[in-house]
Amino acid sequence: MPSFFHRPAAHDIHAPSLELEGVSVAYDGIAALEDVSFSVRQGDQAAVIGPNGAGKSTLFNVIAGIVKPQRGSVRVYGSGPRGHICVGYVPQRNRIDLRFPVSVHDVVMMGRIGKIGLSRWPGRRDRQIVGEALEQVEMQPFARRQIGELSGGQQQRVLLARALAQEAELLLLDEPLGGLDTPSQEAFLRILDRLRRRGITMLVATHDLNQAAEQYPLVLVLNRRLIAFGSPANVLTTDILSQAYGSQMHVVHTKQGELVIADTCCNGGQPPVPQMLGTEPHDLTARVESQVELANR
Ligand code: ADP
Ligand code: MG
Repeated sequence: MPSFFHRPAAHDIHAPSLELEGVSVAYDGIAALEDVSFSVRQGDQAAVIGPNGAGKSTLFNVIAGIVKPQRGSVRVYGSGPRGHICVGYVPQRNRIDLRFPVSVHDVVMMGRIGKIGLSRWPGRRDRQIVGEALEQVEMQPFARRQIGELSGGQQQRVLLARALAQEAELLLLDEPLGGLDTPSQEAFLRILDRLRRRGITMLVATHDLNQAAEQYPLVLVLNRRLIAFGSPANVLTTDILSQAYGSQMHVVHTKQGELVIADTCCNGGQPPVPQMLGTEPHDLTARVESQVELANR
C-alpha cells in the first residue's frame, strides 16, 4: 500500500534531514550502490554527479523509500524513509508515464494527499497552495489542461509543482533538465534558482559538471560507491573525477589550469556533450573549441 495511507512519519528536529549509513543495493546480484554513507543537513543543496549507471536514480529511489537497500540504513529526519510526506521526488523523465487523463491541477493536488489525508476533501487552502505551486513553476495558465497534452519540459515543471504543493522539505530532482530544449531548461533553471534562494534542502542529479560547479554549494560524486562529497572546489578535482568517470574522461593540462572533458551525458541517446572544468567560466562552445585546438597541437 502506498506510504501516504499511513500516518506520516515523525520528525526528530535534531536529526539531519537525511542520513545514509552503509547503504548497498543490488539488482539480480549486481551491485548498483555499495556501502554508501553520507548525511545532508537542512538547507544543504547538492548536485549528484556520476556517469550513466552510477546509481544516481537508485540512490533517489532508496531515499524516497521505493527501493529497499539490502544492507545499511536510510533515515529522513531520524526515521526510516517510508511515510515521509516531506520528501518531494521528481523522477527522471524516462521513468514516468504521464499519458493518463488527469488535469494539471489534479496532478498537483495529488501532492496534497499526504497533508489532507483521506478523510476530507481538498479545501480552499489546498486549492490556494496548488495555485501558488503552479505559479511558481510558471504553469498556472495550463491548470485545466490534461497532463498528457503538455511538452516534456512542462510536465517536468508540473511534477515539481506537485512536490512544492506537498510542502516538501527535502527535494529529490533526478536529471530535471534531461532531454529538455533550451527554453525549457532555462525556465527550469530559473525555478531551481528561486528554490535554492529559499533554502530548500535538495539533491539534484545532473550531467552538467559546470552547472554542478557553479550553482551548488555541495557536490556528491557517485559511481556505485560514494567517491566524494563536499564543496565543488574540493570535489571537482582531476583525481576524483577520473575515479568516477574513468575512461569517459580526458584531462588536458594547460597554463591556465586543467581542462577536464567528461563524456557524462545520456542525453536521450544523443552523442555525449563534452564538459570542462578548471578554467575561468566562459562560453562552453569557446572552451570546447580551445580544447580541440589544444588537443591538435
Ligand atoms: P544512474 O541513474 O546513475 O544512471 P541507475 O540507478 O539508474 O543509475 O542504475 C544503476 C545500475 O543499476 C545500472 O547498472 C542499471 O542498469 C541498474 N538498474 C537500475 N534500476 C534497475 C532495475 N529496476 N532493475 C535492474 N537493474 C536496474
Ligand atoms: Mg538515472
